[in-house]
Amino acid sequence: MAKPEHSPNPSIPYTVIRSRRKTMALVLHPDNQLEVRCGLKMPLADIKRFVQEKEPWIRRKMTENSHLIPVKVPSEPKQMTLLRHQTRQKALMILQRFPDLVPGRLMIRRQKRRWGSCSKNGVISINLCAGLLPDELLEYIVVHELCHLIHFDHSPRFHHHLEQLLPGAQVRSRALQRYLLA
Ligand SMILES: [Zn+2]
Repeated sequence: MAKPEHSPNPSIPYTVIRSRRKTMALVLHPDNQLEVRCGLKMPLADIKRFVQEKEPWIRRKMTENSHLIPVKVPSEPKQMTLLRHQTRQKALMILQRFPDLVPGRLMIRRQKRRWGSCSKNGVISINLCAGLLPDELLEYIVVHELCHLIHFDHSPRFHHHLEQLLPGAQVRSRALQRYLLA
């Protein structure tokens, strides 16, 4: 990947990253940094026009991003240990309400991009930082992963079952999208 170039006097600033690719793509990062990825010889005028054409989309996404609530992992080890403990206690309380669904193991760990995951052998991992979320969202994350013990996908059957286990799951899923792991 080549050295980034910066847009000349644009209405929306962006960085150009050139590589051997045929198409142009926009990447808007959660911190609203905009990147244009394009081929090695794509003329700047074409890039500029591409960004202009996409401006309504970019503006809309930027507004959405600015409403995101960052969730930060504590920097001090002591606080991190405390948070791990709290998140585990809360997650265990939620698990107790679903005695028919028992994970092979519950892990509370730091994950950069995910709130939770469920492995094929039934190990449920919950992001340490999920304990910082409102309780109903932590509950959503735990029950979502529990539901994966039965449906190992995001099929309509999964979502139907999840909604039965936790009425309003979809609404919570949307609410969770406002939180950004930072
Ligand atoms: Zn899932």
